[in-house]
Amino acid sequence: MKRCGWESGRDTLLVHAGSDPGKNFGIVNPPVYRASTVLFKDMEEFRRRGERRYRWFSYGTDGTPTTFALTDAVCRLEGGAGTLAFSSGLAAITLSILALVRSGDHILMVDSVYGPTRRFCDQVLKGFGVETTYYDPLVGAGIAGLIQDHTRLIFTESPGSLSFEVQDIPAICAAAHGRGVPVAMDNTWATPLFFDALGHGVDISIQAGTKYLGGHSDLLLGLVTTRDEELFKRLKDTRDALGDCVAPDVCSLALRGMRTMGLRLRHQQQAALELARWLEGRPEVRRVLHPALEGDPGHDLWRRDFTGSSGLFGIILDTEDETARDAFIDALELFGIGFSWGGFESLVVPADPAPIRTARPWQEPGLVVRLNVGLEDIEDLKADLERGFARMRSA
Ligand SMILES: *Cc1c(COP(=O)(O)O)cnc(C)c1O
Repeated sequence: MKRCGWESGRDTLLVHAGSDPGKNFGIVNPPVYRASTVLFKDMEEFRRRGERRYRWFSYGTDGTPTTFALTDAVCRLEGGAGTLAFSSGLAAITLSILALVRSGDHILMVDSVYGPTRRFCDQVLKGFGVETTYYDPLVGAGIAGLIQDHTRLIFTESPGSLSFEVQDIPAICAAAHGRGVPVAMDNTWATPLFFDALGHGVDISIQAGTKYLGGHSDLLLGLVTTRDEELFKRLKDTRDALGDCVAPDVCSLALRGMRTMGLRLRHQQQAALELARWLEGRPEVRRVLHPALEGDPGHDLWRRDFTGSSGLFGIILDTEDETARDAFIDALELFGIGFSWGGFESLVVPADPAPIRTARPWQEPGLVVRLNVGLEDIEDLKADLERGFARMRSA
């Protein structure tokens, strides 16, 4: 399959992909086409609707030209064979898994995976007779020893969005492909801008567009890009069978977000790194979980495979006292307490990987707090964290 999209620079692609003013009265942004019903010209066209089913639309659930403007742009960014939009990042993940497994099958799931993905495996897949084995995020080529005859998918997420371990994606893909098993990756943290998932061997690249693509904390969207046409068709069939779809209004907002995504990500990368380095020197912080820091255990892999880092990282506070942690968080005025991330505003949440993990127990002492660095002035963010530490010390 020819990889499209690499003929221009990434920023140029972010700015121009999915926009065709010549077909739209010169107006820069694609219009929002809302639809349930789509009319057919005649019975001939009606009969032949199946021929366009994977690349165009016959009903609103397939999307409209607004949806295709977005998915075509993302496909070029990812360098894939096809991209599908889903109603949320989680729907993109669960439907991608469902497309590949049947009762009696087995999947390998990384132990550091996003919590709701794990819940889907333990509650839904298990009930349907699909077995999940969690594996150590640091397994690398050792994944070969875990692949069974009925393994149908290896799922990766790198770095883990709570604990930030970096996976050896090329080694995992090589082992998987040696056994004919496809690899899916949740690439929400790095986005296709900072990690070329398909280029590193991943078959199904997933991102929660909710995060950096949307970028403004006001939409929910999942995007899946596949390396080959067959996988794309399986995914589309599964999505259609389950009735998942995304509103064109959301796609339009996501396209708007895409125009500034490179700029935002690069700024958030710099700001997060500066804060992370500063936090490393703070006595209240035991360790900073950020793979772009030189001392991080995942740093070498990150430097080899990634071209940047985003604005999400963790800190381990030098305390086991939840009251002190809560005092730290409650004192913050700019970092809002809230889920999701990737927006323009800074966020904080407490995180506890320990009770979740089964393959590689989380044994780091201290309490984990996750920070999403937004677009505020860095000095203001530092002052906010200083305020938190002062409150923590006196708690
Ligand atoms: C947020 C998130 C998702 C899910 O995205 P939603 O659109 O909120 O469902 C998936 N993976 C990771 C790593 C995330 O952070």
